Amino acid sequence: MKLDIDKIRNDFPILKQKIFGNPLIYFDNAATTQKPNEVIDIMSRLYRTQNANIHRGVHLMSQQATEAHEEARRVIAHFIGATSSDEVLFTRGTTESINLVASTLSQLMKRGDEIIISTMEHHSNIVPWQMVAERYGFVIKAIPIDNEGNMLYDEYEKLFTERTSLVSVTHVSNVLGTINDVKKITAIAHSHGVPVVIDGAQAVAHLRVDVHDLNVDFYAFSGHKLYAPTGIGVLYGKREWLNKLPPYQGGGEMIEKVTLEKTTYNTLPYKFEAGTPDFIGSVGFAQAIKYLNTNDFDALIEYEDSLLRYATEKMTQIDGLHIHGTAEKKSGVISFNIDGVHHFDLGTLLDKTGIAIRTGHHCAQPLVERLGVTGTARVSFAFYNTFEEIDIFMEKLKRCLTILKG
Ligand SMILES: *Cc1c(COP(=O)(O)O)cnc(C)c1O
Repeated sequence: MKLDIDKIRNDFPILKQKIFGNPLIYFDNAATTQKPNEVIDIMSRLYRTQNANIHRGVHLMSQQATEAHEEARRVIAHFIGATSSDEVLFTRGTTESINLVASTLSQLMKRGDEIIISTMEHHSNIVPWQMVAERYGFVIKAIPIDNEGNMLYDEYEKLFTERTSLVSVTHVSNVLGTINDVKKITAIAHSHGVPVVIDGAQAVAHLRVDVHDLNVDFYAFSGHKLYAPTGIGVLYGKREWLNKLPPYQGGGEMIEKVTLEKTTYNTLPYKFEAGTPDFIGSVGFAQAIKYLNTNDFDALIEYEDSLLRYATEKMTQIDGLHIHGTAEKKSGVISFNIDGVHHFDLGTLLDKTGIAIRTGHHCAQPLVERLGVTGTARVSFAFYNTFEEIDIFMEKLKRCLTILKG
């Protein structure tokens, strides 16, 4: 299928916005993605015609809403290659998904147990582990990286001891773009009898993810980075693990029977879904996936790769521009610094020209420190971006540099 990028851009109404009088060039897709009409429309339609609490009512609208929510779960399960939709838990996003695993799995661990993370983690895959480590006396170890931004797999293997009880690492780095070899990471952990949690926040929108093939025990991601609404995300977990874990939050929906003395818990996935879920967000989420599939997701991924290569080549030609993260297997983002220019000033000036980029530590302070900088500028692409936008970006970047370098 040949991609029609103009048609795709028409599906995303926000791309018609003007920023300070300039056409918006949105290069901050690693922070959040824009939403196609289909997603916005279905959510608006549900609020207008079918809003009723799910799993509770005997009335028709409630039954329709329940069916739509559970159908969304099946669509998402299929998208990530999960064997059963019971293994797909709805959460608020990647952050909550990782917190869910941290707060429940930690109850099965013992003082002195070790958790392996990596140097390239987002804070949401560091802080939850530090919180339980502090509470229960666990030890956290981090896999080092090389100067290109590759995880050092030999060093990773050396971190295992008989106390290692968990590995939790990112699939794709939101700063370096490095695509980690999750299959290998998982195989090594499993050879030590250790389960693996993967932060898939940056991966799901830019790679084909098959949790079954990767053989991960848990996989966390957010809707909003996948063209779906904010406030909804997923934790995939292998059934045997989800059965073993205690519940996360307590409340309605997650129970089987409650007396004032004791509660028994619901079956999967409801055991982990206390309270009224975002049953309209879930349908929006599934609609985003349907949108990707009708547009040939593989072709979209390939197109994004060509944008990344094109921009990398152009940016490399700028004097004093350093790209952080040059791994061979890379996706979606280019973090960079320019000699004599503060990333924040550059981001601010580019904004005045209509170009939205990210600057700062990208919620990955340990990594930014490892890079030896105070922060970086970052451009990140989605399939609705164009080569022409990259050309305009390059032109405006050069203009900003003449101003900033005086
Ligand atoms: C965005 C991101 C997160 C956090 O996702 P939320 O949607 O904010 O919960 C975690 N890890 C990575 C790699 C990310 O890019």
